[in-house]
Amino acid sequence: MNLELSEEQAAVRRLAEDFVAREVVPYAAAWDRAESVDRGIVKKLGALGFLGLTIPEEYGGSGGDHLAYCLVTEELGRGDSSVRGIVSVSLGLVAKTIAHWGSEEQKRSWLPRLTSGEALGCFGLTEPGTGSDAGNLATRAVPDGDGYLVNGSKMFITNGTWADVVLLFARTGDAPGHRGVSAFLVPTDTPGLSRRPIHGKLGLRGQATAEVVLQDVRLPAHALLGPEGKGFSIAMSALAKGRMSVAAGCVGIARAALDAAVAYAGQREQFGRSIAHYQLVQELISDISVDLDAARLLTWRVADLIDRGEEFATAASKAKLFASEAAVRAANNALQVYGGYGYIDEYPVGKLVRDARVMTLYEGTSQIQKLIIGRAETGVSAF
Ligand code: FAD
Repeated sequence: MNLELSEEQAAVRRLAEDFVAREVVPYAAAWDRAESVDRGIVKKLGALGFLGLTIPEEYGGSGGDHLAYCLVTEELGRGDSSVRGIVSVSLGLVAKTIAHWGSEEQKRSWLPRLTSGEALGCFGLTEPGTGSDAGNLATRAVPDGDGYLVNGSKMFITNGTWADVVLLFARTGDAPGHRGVSAFLVPTDTPGLSRRPIHGKLGLRGQATAEVVLQDVRLPAHALLGPEGKGFSIAMSALAKGRMSVAAGCVGIARAALDAAVAYAGQREQFGRSIAHYQLVQELISDISVDLDAARLLTWRVADLIDRGEEFATAASKAKLFASEAAVRAANNALQVYGGYGYIDEYPVGKLVRDARVMTLYEGTSQIQKLIIGRAETGVSAF
């Protein structure tokens, strides 16, 4: 793998760095307190092409490869994980899945709006009763005239209250377990679809998270995405790439933690010298630095495998597992460097700790990633 960035990759990273410095970092703490980013950020992300990375230009995308996507995601994650998550879901889980599995009509109808930021997407897999065991979901889509009648509910849906379209997973037919699941594109103004905001999250507070309820929702046949019964494979392929994006966001958190810890250690004085002089403080900083490098290399490896058209799912689970745990450690170490001030909202590291924590939970918990990696190594499924 070539670790040198191409001119295009370096340029897109500079663009993202500049955008995050101007449009994200100055506002992130206020958005966190207000429990909402400024929604105008979505159109700005679209105007720069950040919501269209890897999507073909003929559908409004900005092209680029998966390493460029990782670079932008790292920058956004460094600035504010809530903003990073909006992109990871609308582009990474929804638009990319439509680009891969959608009919020509579905691509023409949704991709230009999603990539420009005119519309947002959300990913409706988790339910109140099924999280890790997603293939067991209970939402049903039964035949109804030419289309389907859907009933059920989806839990913890990122972008939920803001989204214009839900990539919805529901059970069709009688096939048991994950074989009976299909994917649908459901506009959120469809009668019978309602959303309940979920407040009081520990982190990612600037992001809209919701329960999405479907009560007698009528869908036309053309709402089906990909073949009937293929929905679980579609969800798993979306999540495999999504894990790369979560990992890149975690690299961003680790970088923010390193920058904050180094700056504070250099200016805070105790026992007559800056605390950067003390070996135990340097150990905290050194641990963040190693975690950051290792997480970034594992993440870039996934991007490289995808761009070369090679199998990447296990590598994505390894990157997501390591980077999410590394982000939690890095944020926690940075807080330790800040001492008591780290515990106060006025300083940036408390938010990093809160934002990092969910990374080990969603898009497959750390335990689920270990089962995926263990299955790949042993050939035995422990699910
Ligand atoms: P459970 O599955 O109930 O797990 C509870 C515990 O049991 C965990 O520690 C888990 O690791 C462990 N466990 C479960 N099964 C096993 C096993 N076989 N072996 C060992 N340990 C096991 N979902 C979406 O569909 N779309 C979204 O946009 C989305 N956004 C989210 C945003 C936030 C802020 C949060 C918190 C969640 C979001 N989720 C979303 C849901 C998320 O993916 C789930 O929370 C996650 O998959 C875990 O499911 P669960 O919460 O039901 O936990």
